[in-house]
Amino acid sequence: MDYQEIISVCYCGDGKGKLEKAESLAEEYGFKLLQQKNVQDQLGIVKEAVEALDEQMTAMEMGKTCSQCAAKPDGGCCSAYMGNENNDALQLLMNILAGVKVKLVRDDGVECCFLGERGCLLLFKPIFCLNYLCGRIREESDKDKLSLLEQKTGALLTAQSTLEQIIIRFLVTVQERD
Ligand code: SF4
Ligand code: SF4
Repeated sequence: MDYQEIISVCYCGDGKGKLEKAESLAEEYGFKLLQQKNVQDQLGIVKEAVEALDEQMTAMEMGKTCSQCAAKPDGGCCSAYMGNENNDALQLLMNILAGVKVKLVRDDGVECCFLGERGCLLLFKPIFCLNYLCGRIREESDKDKLSLLEQKTGALLTAQSTLEQIIIRFLVTVQERD
């Protein structure tokens, strides 16, 4: 498969189909991918960026705000649409490589299939989920803290995107050889 084929295969389908693709890539190439030094290094960089963003979200008490919001009827923002459309198999593969036990936790057509009892089960979240800042968070947050949040989100998105490119290059090369 070339670059374009990998992108089109990994970005199409619903949450279930994308997870199946990610699992099949993990089964075939997961071990080899984890042996690559650039993959190991970049996984570490992404995990650090996740921790930095989590710390900022905790400092802004976003967990509390979102839990209160999600507990209301029609509250929360992790919809079934998000789970089906905003994920992709490469991002789910990155989670599997990071040791996350990725699975479908619901199929109710209402909420995201990756939304567990204690929130999102993905360590590396889709770009749209990371970028999403609702009006309530914007209104209730201090400007400087919001700006720090955006910086840390940007750093994480860059790190995730670099990891995705490394994985795609690996897949293109290994499949050319096979
Ligand atoms: S991001 Fe906004 S809409 Fe989504 S759960 Fe949090 S408060 Fe609610
Ligand atoms: S943050 Fe997680 S649970 Fe929420 S929509 Fe995104 S992938 Fe789904």
